[in-house]
Amino acid sequence: MSGRLTIIGLGPGDARAVTPEAEAALARAQALFGYGPYLERVPVRAGQSRHPSDNREEAARAEAALAHAAQGADAALVSGGDPGVFAMAAAVCEAIEHGPDAWRALDVAVVPGVTAMLAVAAKVGAPLGHDFCALSLSDNLKSWETIERRLDAAAGAGFVLALYNPVSRARPWQLGKAFERLRGHLPKTTPVVFGRAVGRADERISVTTLDAADGTAADMSTLIIVGSAETRLVARPGRAPLVYTPRASKTVCA
Ligand code: SAH
Repeated sequence: MSGRLTIIGLGPGDARAVTPEAEAALARAQALFGYGPYLERVPVRAGQSRHPSDNREEAARAEAALAHAAQGADAALVSGGDPGVFAMAAAVCEAIEHGPDAWRALDVAVVPGVTAMLAVAAKVGAPLGHDFCALSLSDNLKSWETIERRLDAAAGAGFVLALYNPVSRARPWQLGKAFERLRGHLPKTTPVVFGRAVGRADERISVTTLDAADGTAADMSTLIIVGSAETRLVARPGRAPLVYTPRASKTVCA
């Protein structure tokens, strides 16, 4: 029997945001692999083995799940948010590309989840209502020069930006630098949304301006949305303003 590996997105944190498709795939699996805190979000089921791993061990985690599936098992690998967004689906593809031929014969499926930028956007209105792009600020797997060039290109072309992996203990300055860079392209009043631990008990959402945005106000569980020159706030009595990017763009790109 040839095995199966399903890479499953658990969404940002709220159990209600786990899709029925993800639920079914989790229920069916014989073995569950994933970063410890993500695995803890999956209810324990009798007869299912659990294989938690550390945060930084993505390649080893992908290989372990593939090796298990290659023994004929129905294995599942869980990711926070969507597994295809800065997460395990690409790690599995990389492992298959460079791994033993037998891994190419496996039944591999990806089950999508609600990614952090969509969960954060939904909390404040519609900041991703027009063209946007997503960038990881981590320079672990690419150079900081590349990140700066991409920030310049994206902001210069009028995209709203969703910034994943803004800071970590080992990378304390990247977000501040990114804001500095973006101030060269965008108005001071450009809305900036900080969404921390969305969908979890310690969720915190704040909206500020690019001028006032503080690069030290984020942690590893924060996703930042930086608007375009068109992104605006709609004030409402007694309610938080709506942040949105109009669907029609009036800016002509250089
Ligand atoms: N696969 C994940 C992203 C992994 S990269 C997804 O699709 O959401 C990890 C980064 O995602 C974090 O540094 C943070 O920027 C963002 N993130 C993940 N979960 C989040 C949450 N619940 N709230 C806010 N940001 C989150």
